[in-house]
Amino acid sequence: MKRGMLIILSGPSGVGKGTVREELFKDESLNLAYSISMTTRKPRPAEKEGVDYFFVDEKTFTQKIADGGLIEWAKFVGNYYGTPKDYVEELLDEGKNVVLEIEVQGALQVMKKCPDALTIFLVPPSMEELERRIRGRRTESEDIVMERLNKARKEIATKDQYKYVVENDDIMAAKEKIAKIIKEHKA
Ligand code: 5GP
Repeated sequence: MKRGMLIILSGPSGVGKGTVREELFKDESLNLAYSISMTTRKPRPAEKEGVDYFFVDEKTFTQKIADGGLIEWAKFVGNYYGTPKDYVEELLDEGKNVVLEIEVQGALQVMKKCPDALTIFLVPPSMEELERRIRGRRTESEDIVMERLNKARKEIATKDQYKYVVENDDIMAAKEKIAKIIKEHKA
């Protein structure tokens, strides 16, 4: 069976990666599978264990790093995030196109290890709009909002290291642009 393709989707906090990803996953022709990350961040109210993330404590996370069980990992605004290796390998072997929705430091690690990965960076229409979206989530304190905005500026500055930069001005339009990129890359 043809091995699947590794797809990295990055973009600043609040840009709408999760929503665009949900739309992409409705398109069965793309044959996508989602890589569920491990994190030490506390779950947000609507988040589910083993669906959105594997929520773990710091000891479990650092043990996973020591065991070589992560493809990449990074610390982001005070918490650890990483991609479990075995699950991703399994899905790729099954021919699935595996989506890693990860931040920039982790993405750069994967680019080095897997130069063939399809890398996509989602940008907001403007910084004002990004701030509005982050605040609209209402789940984070002012400190965290400011920290995520600062981080967003730094992340956007690295966008040219990705193969494609897509603007998320409209969810369905961004979904269509990305679906087209995936299909062309597969061909
Ligand atoms: P959030 O706390 O908003 O869910 O995620 C914060 C950031 O961490 C987002 O940019 C998200 O894409 C990223 N992220 C989620 N999982 C991983 C992962 O496994 N590795 C890395 N490097 N970043 C991740």
